[in-house]
Amino acid sequence: MEHTTEVTVIGVPLDENSSFKRGTAKAPNAIREALYCFSSNLCAENGLDLGSDKRWLDVGDVGEAGIGPSLALIEKRIGDLVSPGKPVVALGGDHSITWPIVRAHARTFPNLTILHLDAHPDLYDELDGQRESHACPFARIMEEGLADRLVSVGIRTRNPHQREQAERFGVETICAGESPGDIVSTLAPPLYLSVDLDVLDPAFAPGISHIEPGGLSTRDVLDIIHSLPCPLVGADIVELNPDCDVNGVTAMVAAKLLKEIVAGMISTRWIDAERRL
Ligand code: MN
Ligand code: MN
Repeated sequence: MEHTTEVTVIGVPLDENSSFKRGTAKAPNAIREALYCFSSNLCAENGLDLGSDKRWLDVGDVGEAGIGPSLALIEKRIGDLVSPGKPVVALGGDHSITWPIVRAHARTFPNLTILHLDAHPDLYDELDGQRESHACPFARIMEEGLADRLVSVGIRTRNPHQREQAERFGVETICAGESPGDIVSTLAPPLYLSVDLDVLDPAFAPGISHIEPGGLSTRDVLDIIHSLPCPLVGADIVELNPDCDVNGVTAMVAAKLLKEIVAGMISTRWIDAERRL
């Protein structure tokens, strides 16, 4: 079959905006290794076999090997890829990459809705004097008006400052103990998905920098992805830290989520709906 790329996967190996531990720069390659590991196959749950399907392409990493790309370079590289009907999935990297990635999407898709899965709101005005910290991307995104609607699910670490910020920006927060089903059904296009792997309980995904018990199960997150009521124009999977992983299980979870997101984007229903935007 001829290569007709509908979905582009790209690695963003950046960890310099992490506030606690480095290591997420190694994540894109760890996810690729897990994806192609012979212990599983490349079939998504909707039956699409990404091993033989030519409608998606991994174009490698942003920037030069061994050098973390700047936020400006990330925005430029993703911006060159974004177009209607051609979603991009970025593999982080720490969560700071979502700001330039959403900037790149907002040029093509004004009025974005963002579904953000995370233990943390990532709404700090600054952390340790850093406004580009991985604890701040959604404050920057909302300040710049890059999204009309931000829905954060799985949250379980809100302090008074972050509650204030959520109120200021009109963030819709579904805490880890609450069911996301009702709000997920209200999501409308153009929809962007940002998955911080620490949204999962560390029992399911220990390979992250900020262990926060009381999170979602892998199946909870898959159910959210499978129940999205409209197509995704883009997505990212961030915060895998291979240095903290146990038997590579978190890399396998990231690869599984990647398969389900890419297969969902490729499936006729989603692509057709996106072309109608
Ligand atoms: Mn987090
Ligand atoms: Mn985060």
